[in-house]
Amino acid sequence: RTSWLAKLTNGLRKTGASITTVFTGTRIDDALYEDLESALLMADTGVKATEHLLEDLKRRVKDSKTTDPAAVKGLLVQSLTDLLLPLQKPLLIGQFKPTVIMVAGVNGAGKTTSIGKLTRHLASDGASVLLAAADTFRAAAREQLGVWADRNTVDIISQDGGDPAAVSFDAVSAGKARGRDVVLVDTAGRLPTQLHLMEELKKIKRVIQKTGPLADQAGESGASSIPPHEVLLVIDGNTGQNALNQVKAFDDTLGLTGLIVTKLDGTAKGGVLAAIARERPIPVYFIGVGEKLEDLETFNAQEFAQALLS
Ligand code: GDP
Repeated sequence: RTSWLAKLTNGLRKTGASITTVFTGTRIDDALYEDLESALLMADTGVKATEHLLEDLKRRVKDSKTTDPAAVKGLLVQSLTDLLLPLQKPLLIGQFKPTVIMVAGVNGAGKTTSIGKLTRHLASDGASVLLAAADTFRAAAREQLGVWADRNTVDIISQDGGDPAAVSFDAVSAGKARGRDVVLVDTAGRLPTQLHLMEELKKIKRVIQKTGPLADQAGESGASSIPPHEVLLVIDGNTGQNALNQVKAFDDTLGLTGLIVTKLDGTAKGGVLAAIARERPIPVYFIGVGEKLEDLETFNAQEFAQALLS
């Protein structure tokens, strides 16, 4: 745990440095709040979250009656933690067999890598995983996913060309037939502005839904049991406000249940999580803190706020 936190702290240094220097002065005055406002905006916290944080912080400062700028930093950690707390939620599997998780994102966000890491995370928790390569266009994408499948020794369902929705359907059916705990569906990278590709994502979701309800542990199969049970978006934390726009666009089109935020091991834009919390609070199930298989961590609001402002 310590090593990943160190990585995160180190990675967020670029984001936090300009914010924390605000608290090195001798007085708590308008200038401090103005500098803080600029620093938060520079860190891609966005106007809404920045306003919210400043208001909340001023109230805390008033209540605490402190006159020490250094103490304000601690209060900002609290404000940020409270804002981020709704994003802290675990990804639950095990209710359905299989739990079907669809994963989307723009090219280069770290989707394939994150699926590899997530596979390992789930497998190390004892879950059996089946991967679906629903990117039927790019052979390289399938090969890359295949490498992660080999590393994790899990099955992969893939197909040259053809319909991504059909591959997804086959994979969910295979997951059921083989009694897997989780089916992870990797979709091709796309931009929210590529409307035909966004339609394709909706189709993949619709076709997965057609595989029908799955009985839960109690043998019930209500509406919530219809797969996909999770629709995740992978975003590159280094792209700041752009990432927020992706969250909004993919959520509007597809309905997201969770996020994976990558590349928090070296970003000046880590404030974007606050913007997400304020503008589209979708749970951050995991954060990526490096390129290796083990560099995936569950998101913790307080640890993140502390790492950012350390
Ligand atoms: P995809 O196009 O979304 O599938 O992206 P990839 O999974 O191929 O990742 C794109 C690049 O980002 C690769 O070089 C990955 O190693 C790198 N990457 C992914 N996640 C992280 C992360 O959390 N930290 C760092 N530093 N690099 C990452």
